[in-house]
Amino acid sequence: MNVALKKMIRRIVAQLLRGHAYHCPVCDGRFRKFLPGGANKRANAQCPACGSLERHRAFWLFLQNFPLPEQPLRVLHFAPEACFEEAFRRWKNWTYVTTDLYVQEVDLKLDIEKLDVDNASYDLVMCHHVLPEVRNDVRALEELYRILTPGGYLLMQNPYDAHLLVTRHAADLSLAERHHLWGKYADQYQHHYGKDFPETLENIGFEIRIVQAETHFPSVLVQYNRLAGTLFVCKKPFGLA
Ligand SMILES: [Zn+2]
Repeated sequence: MNVALKKMIRRIVAQLLRGHAYHCPVCDGRFRKFLPGGANKRANAQCPACGSLERHRAFWLFLQNFPLPEQPLRVLHFAPEACFEEAFRRWKNWTYVTTDLYVQEVDLKLDIEKLDVDNASYDLVMCHHVLPEVRNDVRALEELYRILTPGGYLLMQNPYDAHLLVTRHAADLSLAERHHLWGKYADQYQHHYGKDFPETLENIGFEIRIVQAETHFPSVLVQYNRLAGTLFVCKKPFGLA
């Protein structure tokens, strides 16, 4: 289906679902309900107008209130989500650059394990749901740390199991275990992050804060905007290379 036809169908569906029960903060649409969405087609998950899922809406709201510096920021966005891209390109003070290794419609084609980018090139890096699929994720995190300016941030949403003591890696799992953990992404996913993941980030040098959407936002907003997901706020400290 071509892009124009997709957009037209989306506009019609969004119009049919107009209402007051739920609000999408990304596109400011109000609906009777959201569409089923996500890999497992969760009920009431996807905005019919902009396509945002629970984690996208949570990130958008978080970013609105995140105290980014006033001065111009160089921003690098890995695997940019379609619902954000247009808005981010208009964002005041941002020089916004998108990247992906496999998708064509991006500004830069970069391998996250070996970034062809100078040290301290970006003030803000966004990288959501990418790391679990990267074979050498620690190497990728070291690279992200390297290209950030001191005082800069990596904002990163990842699936995170706070009840799992130690991160599980695909290389250590049987095919049956991978299917159990990741379903149809069993051949794609490399890591299932557990309680030791924050320490991995700290060992690289980041100062981190974990934001769990379901408890970070008021419960009435969690319900009205349908919010979910774990965000790792990773700061590269000042005064370090
Ligand atoms: Zn929306």
